[in-house]
Amino acid sequence: MYIVHLDKPYTYDVLQEDLKNLCREYSFLESFSLGRSVCGRSLWALRWGTGEKRIFLNGAHHGMEWITSMLLMRIMEEFCRQYRDGTAIGNVQFQKLYESIHLVVCPMVNPDGVSLSVNGLASDLPPITKTRLKSYNGDSTDFSKWQANINGVDLNHNYDADFEKGVFHQHRLGIYSPGPTRYSGTAPESEPESRAIADFTRQFKPHLAVAYHTQGEVIYYDFNGMTTARGKEMAEAMAQISGYELDQTEGMASFSGYKDWVIQKMQIPAFTIEAGLGENPLPISQFDKIFFDNLPMLMYLVSA
Ligand SMILES: [Zn+2]
Repeated sequence: MYIVHLDKPYTYDVLQEDLKNLCREYSFLESFSLGRSVCGRSLWALRWGTGEKRIFLNGAHHGMEWITSMLLMRIMEEFCRQYRDGTAIGNVQFQKLYESIHLVVCPMVNPDGVSLSVNGLASDLPPITKTRLKSYNGDSTDFSKWQANINGVDLNHNYDADFEKGVFHQHRLGIYSPGPTRYSGTAPESEPESRAIADFTRQFKPHLAVAYHTQGEVIYYDFNGMTTARGKEMAEAMAQISGYELDQTEGMASFSGYKDWVIQKMQIPAFTIEAGLGENPLPISQFDKIFFDNLPMLMYLVSA
């Protein structure tokens, strides 16, 4: 029996229930908030381990990619069980791991976008009106493909890494205003969600960061040739372990993303993992494969 729900779309309500139950079951697990979304939802994070090596994982920068929140929550549950039971995966002994790493996981960076993608206009939306959201969405009430936050800003285009170049490319694609995807906003960190994630990253000073997205079974590890030799080596190892492809972002995707900003500003290994394969939003039937592809990669990262 597992605590984390794997049987329905992973909304903010499911996340909050699972967080509460995980922390109740595992007293060594700490939950805290990194800030609040536009609609006032908490950007929950979990802390595991007392070690020196700081690792930050996050999921669901993009609304319809909520399966990455499910993935990170299920991974945290696995870490807690293994630690409590004194067990190991491969040669990684979890009681030793607990003392060697300081892991912080923010499973849902964009809770408003997830809610909108799953529940459409039935979501709780203040301060944004439904009329305005519909206009952001090309006058459609089908929000199932929504990626942005509730202001229509794509959070993974809202970081301070060649932001102006990203805006230039957007204009070439005809994107000038809020919408379901790819609008970067008026300035880096203009949105409370990206600001909170950037603030936490600056304060936490991780040795390693991973942003989970869907889909493509691809690992992105570089930004403008700035990745370290260590970052490249780790990406190659992960690709070998999982069968995921290695790639370098091109065009739009290669500006103002979270991993771009981390590589440029913090000079540490940072990755975007595009989990799963198919059409977003990925169906829950893919979850097991995603979990069993990604857990070994993470086991490598935490012990590398
Ligand atoms: Zn994404």
